[in-house]
Amino acid sequence: MTDSGSESGSNPGTNADHDRDPVTRLLETARGNPVDDPFRVTGVMMQYYHVCKRELWFESRNLEIDRENPTIVRGTRVDDTAYSKKRRNISLGMIALDLLEDGRVVEVKPSSALTEPATMQLSYYLWYLERVAGIEKDGVLAHPRERNREPIELTDERTDKVEGAIRGISDVVSRETPPPAEKKPFCESCAYHDFCWC
Ligand code: SF4
Repeated sequence: MTDSGSESGSNPGTNADHDRDPVTRLLETARGNPVDDPFRVTGVMMQYYHVCKRELWFESRNLEIDRENPTIVRGTRVDDTAYSKKRRNISLGMIALDLLEDGRVVEVKPSSALTEPATMQLSYYLWYLERVAGIEKDGVLAHPRERNREPIELTDERTDKVEGAIRGISDVVSRETPPPAEKKPFCESCAYHDFCWC
């Protein structure tokens, strides 16, 4: 799945009028309606919101990091060889995703260590497809190295979680300073390690 910065849109988020519901602002932005307060959420941002809110804030500021450096690539990065023959890349506004041949949206992760962030990223893609393009799809969370595939559906519960996360992301990226650093198991392999612990 596309984890790179190819998805368009991160949020300066520091001076917009945030009185309106972020979900409404995102949908209006995604549908191309003229809005005074556009709001964009990429799949990476949805993932980071569930991994580390400080990391999300850094991402929203477009800090340039050498993401190809293997020492800072942690388990959330994509195995680009997985499903390579079956993939078809789709870009739709704020999101960039892959479809398997059977039409399901697939999120490929090297390991199942961060299943919840990956599940929310995939759920966001399904939500975005449905709400923005009127396309209902199921998803598959795949860990090829572990020979594991988990079907993901956009249930009412997941819809509520996605929309709650969109509002939470809006709150984080609107802050003038990043949330405080909190030690996590994956800080050592985080691109922003030196901004937190050196
Ligand atoms: S180093 Fe740790 S606390 Fe800092 S942004 Fe990365 S994951 Fe978050």
